[in-house]
Amino acid sequence: MVSTDNSQLALSKSKYCGLWQCPKMAWMRKHKPEEFLQSDDATMRMENGREVGELAKGLFGEFVDVTCYSDERLDFSEMIRKTSEEIEKGTPIICEASFNYEGLSCAVDILRKEGDGWAIYEVKSSTYDKKSVYYADIAYQEYVLKNCGINVVATYLVIVNNEYVFDGIFHVKEFFRVEDVTNEIEVERSKIEPTLSLAEKILASDEEPEIDLSVGCNAPYPCGFWNYCAKDIPIPSVFDLYRMNFKKKLEYYYRGIVDYEALLEDGSIDNGIRLRQMEYYLYDKEDYVDREHVDEFLATLSYPLYFLDFETMQSVIPR
Ligand code: SF4
Repeated sequence: MVSTDNSQLALSKSKYCGLWQCPKMAWMRKHKPEEFLQSDDATMRMENGREVGELAKGLFGEFVDVTCYSDERLDFSEMIRKTSEEIEKGTPIICEASFNYEGLSCAVDILRKEGDGWAIYEVKSSTYDKKSVYYADIAYQEYVLKNCGINVVATYLVIVNNEYVFDGIFHVKEFFRVEDVTNEIEVERSKIEPTLSLAEKILASDEEPEIDLSVGCNAPYPCGFWNYCAKDIPIPSVFDLYRMNFKKKLEYYYRGIVDYEALLEDGSIDNGIRLRQMEYYLYDKEDYVDREHVDEFLATLSYPLYFLDFETMQSVIPR
C-alpha cells in the first residue's frame, strides 16, 4: 500500500524543495550534477541537521527507527518495507518513516500516531519557524503520505528553542519547540501539483531551461550551481560587494550594471567600504589599514590573550 512507482518523475523531499527554490536547480541536478559545488556552509548545515535530527527522535519517548543501510548506502526500499510493517503492527512512533508515491519519495523525521490518524513532525536545526521552505517541505511530505493512503491528521514543525538553558542534564523536551503548522502549510499545499507539473515538463526536456539568476539563487539557501549559472558574470562583480543585500545586487545585475567600473560610473553606491573595495581593485591601491581603529581596539586588550574563531564552530548544539 505504501509504495508505488510508475512515473518518470523521481523526486525526494530535498529535490522538491530545490525545485521550489528554482526549477532550473532540479534540471541541473538531473542533467549536470557534476556542476554542483557543495559549500562548507551547506556541509555544516547538513551535519547540524543530522545531529539535531538524532536528538529529536527521543522527543516523544520510545520509538522505532526504520533507517536501513545496504553497502553503506541508505536502503530506501527496505525502509519503505519496514515502515509498512511497523504501521501494520501499530507502532505509535516511527522515525524516518519512508514512503514512495509514483516516484515521489520522502522519509518523515517522526511519524506519530494521533487519534485515528498520523501526525508528521519535521525537525529543523533552526530556531526560526517561519521559513516558507519548511512549509513546502512539510506539505510535500503530507502529499506523498496521503497519496500512499496514510490518514495525515496534523503536521508539526520541530525547531530548536533558543531560550533553552543547559543545567547539566539535557532535557530534550525543553531543547525543542513544537509548532502545529497544519493550517500554515495551506498555501504550500496548493502549490504542490502545479510545481510537480512544472517539474515534469522541465525534467523531461534535454534543453537547459532559460531561467535567469533570482533571489532563489541565495535563499533560502545559497545554490550549489551558482558558479555554473553565474559563469558569464565578470569577477569581481556586484555579487562580490561587501555585505550588500542580495536583492539589491540583483537589481544592479538586472539593470546591466555588473562590473566595478560600471558600478562606479553609475555613482549610486555611497557605502564607504564598498567604494574602497572597488577602488582598491580597479586602481591597484596599496592595502588599506584603518590604523586608528585597530589601535583603538588593541588598546582595550591585555595579555595573555586567547583566540576562539566562532565561525569555525557554528554548531546548533553548543559543545
Ligand atoms: S544558481 Fe540560481 S538560477 Fe542557477 S540553478 Fe541555482 S537557483 Fe537556479
